[in-house]
Amino acid sequence: MSNDADLMNELHWLIDMVQTIEVGLVVLDRNFNIALWNGFMENHSGVSPNAIKGKNLFEEFPELPAAWLKKKMESVYLLKNRAFISWEQRPFVFQFKNYRPITGRAEFMYQNVTLLPLASLTGQITHISIIVYDVTDVAVNKLQLKNANERLEHLSQTDGLTQLHNRRHWQECMNREYERFNRYGDPVSLVMFDIDRFKQVNDEHGHVAGDKVIQHIAHLLSQSLRETDCAGRYGGEEFAVVLTGTTAEEAYHFTERLREKVASSAIQFGGKSIQVTISLGICGMDDFVDNESQWLACADQALYQAKQQGRNRTVIYSE
Ligand code: GH3
Ligand code: MG
Ligand code: MG
Repeated sequence: MSNDADLMNELHWLIDMVQTIEVGLVVLDRNFNIALWNGFMENHSGVSPNAIKGKNLFEEFPELPAAWLKKKMESVYLLKNRAFISWEQRPFVFQFKNYRPITGRAEFMYQNVTLLPLASLTGQITHISIIVYDVTDVAVNKLQLKNANERLEHLSQTDGLTQLHNRRHWQECMNREYERFNRYGDPVSLVMFDIDRFKQVNDEHGHVAGDKVIQHIAHLLSQSLRETDCAGRYGGEEFAVVLTGTTAEEAYHFTERLREKVASSAIQFGGKSIQVTISLGICGMDDFVDNESQWLACADQALYQAKQQGRNRTVIYSE
């Protein structure tokens, strides 16, 4: 007798705990009708257990991903195995608002959900339990960290003045394109260019004006690029570009267009108009290129020749 009383007590306690625990608990029968709906579910949905017991889950919550969730639950019945739904796979199953003060920025509650098969005394799976964990804090922290890491990565690869790749990251792109050439042999060209008599710009208009000129040229360059091209600020007023799928002759059209664009545009600064030109060197990928640094050196040499020949021009490297 006292054993029965103990059991009754235990059951009572368990029911109290199920009602108050900070985890959502739902029990559904084979037809997805609701047999249990605990306090957590009531608090977050605004629907009381009495109002919802015996009703069909998908009729009461039409916003649920019914087809997807039913398929999951059918497999739980079939395999008699629990199934897990992570917030990373699907941010939530039940669309609840987020009320947490710390993670107030999240609009909804992120959830991990377990689907648990419930057996009757005869061992048959007659019901399924949906267990809903509020993982908003964890999810928001993880997302913020991911976001911060992505911003840091971008910062570490980007030149602050021009938003082009910085030298180190550009070099990595260049190495990658060189490797790609070795594997597939598609044409690829390297362009180095430098602003002509830039020291004069600084001397006449000041360093801030000089910076504006660098930004302006980076802007014209960015506008001329395709998605697969890789452009970087190689040094102070030196730029480097890898043009994928482009022969030296095709690269020449690219550089001449850019050169003319630069020469025909002016930068307004402090009531004055500043005009500059650029000199460019191209090295296509040819037999004589043995490694990345040689490729770069050849483009640089062509650039040097362009300067020697009077500036504001393109030179294609040849042996
Ligand atoms: P050229 O290339 O035609 O031979 O002449 P240049 O006067 O442009 O050549 P040089 O490379 O000798 O001078 C480049 C100048 O660019 C020197 C440096 O003060 C200036 N410079 C380098 N980086 C920056 C920068 O970030 N901002 C500004 N404003 N000036 C820079
Ligand atoms: Mg220079
Ligand atoms: Mg220069």
